[in-house]
Amino acid sequence: MTTYRELLRKFAREALEKDKEPSAIKRLLLHCSRMGSAQLVASLDECVPKDTERLVTLAVRDYLDKGRPIQHIIGSEHFFGREFLVNKDVLIPRFETEELVEHILYRLDEQFPVEKILRILDVGTGSGCIAITLALEREATRVVATEISDKALAVARKNHRRLGGDVVFRKGHLLEPVKEEIFDVVVANPPYIPQGETLDPLVGDHEPEIALFGGEDGLRFYRRIIEDLKRILAADHLVAFEHGHDQAERIADIIRRHFPKAPITCQKDLAGKERMTFFRSV
Ligand code: GLN
Repeated sequence: MTTYRELLRKFAREALEKDKEPSAIKRLLLHCSRMGSAQLVASLDECVPKDTERLVTLAVRDYLDKGRPIQHIIGSEHFFGREFLVNKDVLIPRFETEELVEHILYRLDEQFPVEKILRILDVGTGSGCIAITLALEREATRVVATEISDKALAVARKNHRRLGGDVVFRKGHLLEPVKEEIFDVVVANPPYIPQGETLDPLVGDHEPEIALFGGEDGLRFYRRIIEDLKRILAADHLVAFEHGHDQAERIADIIRRHFPKAPITCQKDLAGKERMTFFRSV
């Protein structure tokens, strides 16, 4: 018979030896045992039921031996306090993107009256994490989310059914499905890794290429989006991008080419990296 403490210790030690995250072991154990953290702490010296032990072992082997991201094993990731379903067809929502959403919400409050019904566009929605979160966090918000991948759209729709919010999804490339519409706010976290860059196998072997790579210099989608923005932006508008830590300057150049007078702000993330760029109407 094995206790939760013993099981946790055994696998956490193995994780450390293999340069993996011991905290991931705890998340897998919590998931497989269907316990909350407090309950696990209170049960550390109890014996683990055989079927739970079997499930935990399978999950841990998947993580430690096959290198699968734990979000894929668990089937979900937390984003802005909600649980989003994920699988190999979508990018796993990142912590940096939560920061992006936080900054957007702050800027919406600053720029627009609270009662104004905002038309927001999320370009390339993936799991739907940005679109759904914005729709749920700000009242009077109507979100349209575009996505080219059918498989990603299926995940986003499932998340929407579970979580709600005023969001409609449109299948298509970037701004293509919305070219006849007008938006007050446009948000995008497009794929931005330069083609051919070597990735951590945890990302490169498991997350969809279509969500990662952005052409030779990683900026292909920013160029396409910014070029097409004019026709869909309301007179009073805000545009927000997430991007790679060394792309802010080049993205600002692209923006200036198309919106010479727009005030552009680059925002650092909590790790001190320039990860977000905003621009707005004058
Ligand atoms: N917008 C989604 C996210 O931020 C998907 C991003 C992507 O696939 N590049 O998670």
